[in-house]
Amino acid sequence: MRRGAISLRARYVFPVEGPPIADGVVAVDGGRIAWVGPASERRADLNLGNVAIIPGLVNAHTHLELSRMPGDEGPPPGGSEDEVEWIRKVTLRRISGAWGPSYADNAKRNLKATIEAGTTLVADITTAGLSWGAIAESPVRAVVFAEVIGLKRHRGLQTSGEAWKWLGSIDAEAQVAANARPGLSPHSPYSTAGWLYHNAAGSRLPLTTHLAEMPEELRLLEHRDGPLRGFLEEIGAWDDEWEPVGPRPADYIRKGELRDADWLVAHGTYIEPSEFWQLRPEASAKGQRVAVAYCPRTNARFGHHAHPYRALLEKGAIVCLGTDSLASSPSLGILDEMRFLHACDGSLSGELLLTMGTLFGAWALRAEAATGTLRAGKSADMAVVRLPARDEADPYMLLLESDLPVVATVFEGEFVAGSWQGI
Ligand SMILES: [Zn+2]
Repeated sequence: MRRGAISLRARYVFPVEGPPIADGVVAVDGGRIAWVGPASERRADLNLGNVAIIPGLVNAHTHLELSRMPGDEGPPPGGSEDEVEWIRKVTLRRISGAWGPSYADNAKRNLKATIEAGTTLVADITTAGLSWGAIAESPVRAVVFAEVIGLKRHRGLQTSGEAWKWLGSIDAEAQVAANARPGLSPHSPYSTAGWLYHNAAGSRLPLTTHLAEMPEELRLLEHRDGPLRGFLEEIGAWDDEWEPVGPRPADYIRKGELRDADWLVAHGTYIEPSEFWQLRPEASAKGQRVAVAYCPRTNARFGHHAHPYRALLEKGAIVCLGTDSLASSPSLGILDEMRFLHACDGSLSGELLLTMGTLFGAWALRAEAATGTLRAGKSADMAVVRLPARDEADPYMLLLESDLPVVATVFEGEFVAGSWQGI
């Protein structure tokens, strides 16, 4: 498909803005959506058959540069895994250089899989911009967050120096050409000194951080001890002088000027109900956006079954979905995350789940004006999902209670994975 005018008909169109349309049509012109509605009102150029057209999926948290760890079989069925031990394994592998030379190759391969999974907007955390090259040459929208990490001053200076060197190397024109924006990611309160958080917040760039991820993090902030301290001492990263920004993970996004920045909170599993106010969009005087990127399968892997997504959503917070990396997740598919969460919690409506996997992620990345729903005028970013032959009273169940794949991805009106002939 070229960037001309074309209209696609499908058994269902899920605009996200508005109810599902049975026998629907999406018309595209010049890379943008021109019209969405029922086939009875508009003739289509192509009938894709028993599929759903949904907005392009948004993966709000991943690390494309990381691949699956050799020999990693995950936790036993129904069991979980010690997260600190897992972090130790990943870190030792990073230190040993086992992933080092292949980061950029991993990013390229994993980005391809991400796009094939129907993703058209991705939030990627990268070492000093290593994934930027792959993203810049691919048909995808992205925010690329350079990671800064280090409790010890010299380590923090090293990682932030590398991040800023990369940030200084990309100009505005390159960002437009790449459909990508740069950002910064202070890794986590347990690994990253407070001054790195303050510097990141002062940059006015989009920010993301792993926050309130596990009980051991809360213990370290409050008491400066526990398994994370043991791990940090083992790898020589512990700093006796270290002072946390505050005793609560949420202090890292709400103290002083930290609260004036956009924060995409990865995980947020142990955020307290009393801290929910901070996460409501209307809570910020300066238009700051705070959202939680929940990674259901990674969360379950480490036994964090009580993620407060429901309470957060009920309080008006934005919760979007991420896969995390292949080092902890079986795939890079947001539809897979939606189906997993639906299987765990059938009370979450299909409409809300699809909104979390599309519009909410776009909002968190300040891209909702361009993408995240199927509406005339937005970019024609879409995923085409094969549907089962049966009927369902709730059409969202055709998407969620199925293992049929994404068969095509359309970005700015062009098929960028799969093709209409193959559907
Ligand atoms: Zn992560």
